[in-house]
Amino acid sequence: MKNYLVKPGSKVSFKKCDPDGKRDMPFGKGKAQDKLRDLVDELRKLQSRLYAGHKHRLLIILQAMDTAGKDSTIRHVFTGVNPQGVRVASFKAPTQEELDHDYLWRIHSKTPAKGEIAIFNRSHYEDVLVVKVHDLVPPKTWKKRYSQINDFERMLSDEGTTIIKFFLHIDRNEQKKRIEERLNDPKKAWKFSEDDLKERKFWDNYQKAYEEAISRTSTVWAPWHIIPSNEKWCRNLLITSIIVDKLKKLGMEYPKPAKGLDKITVK
Ligand code: AMP
Ligand code: MG
Repeated sequence: MKNYLVKPGSKVSFKKCDPDGKRDMPFGKGKAQDKLRDLVDELRKLQSRLYAGHKHRLLIILQAMDTAGKDSTIRHVFTGVNPQGVRVASFKAPTQEELDHDYLWRIHSKTPAKGEIAIFNRSHYEDVLVVKVHDLVPPKTWKKRYSQINDFERMLSDEGTTIIKFFLHIDRNEQKKRIEERLNDPKKAWKFSEDDLKERKFWDNYQKAYEEAISRTSTVWAPWHIIPSNEKWCRNLLITSIIVDKLKKLGMEYPKPAKGLDKITVK
């Protein structure tokens, strides 16, 4: 399967990124669902070793336009894992206390500890996205943030955190469909927010902001993947397989039993 990695230093253009994904899939939806089940099970086993080993940290960053499926990805990909070792942090518009600090303050406190997986539902990237689109801080401030973010992620990586970043790529029509579903399906109505309509008007500005942010911050130590997400089954399968692949490469084993355990008898 293609891994949709953004090569560090390359310039991203969404025109060249298919939001559909089906064309590149080696199999159809039915087979993909079987494969996803196997991968979710593999992820569960790998996370168990990550947690027991208490050595590695994994940070997964999800960014996307509204309705692209960040929440649903979290639900599908991490269904099998032990909740003790996984934390989800959702970053909303900053509170006054958060605004009174630097933009990485609230982020750093949610990064994973040893043995943990942290999933960021939005992240410090909002500080070069929504902030840029809506002029929330002057350009001279947000323009410096790309390199600050690269340095911050480099530090996390040097200290033993594996970072994987996903942009869930949908097109404008797909978003329209999904907002309409929220309006028409009573089970989805709770997800509807007027903000989605307001932000949709800035679609082109957001796409440009994402292209620039991803181009400037896909690094060897914290690479971006642009995941075709119009089809939820493609999205879930691709993301799970990339995470499993990365965790396998860590070569994790359960910690060796302490010396003398074989001599202990339990009466
Ligand atoms: P949701 O993820 O749909 O609950 O929406 C969260 C909202 O918070 C989105 O509109 C984000 O753009 C906004 N948000 C997140 N981080 C920031 C930030 N650093 N500055 C301003 N708005 C933000
Ligand atoms: Mg929303």
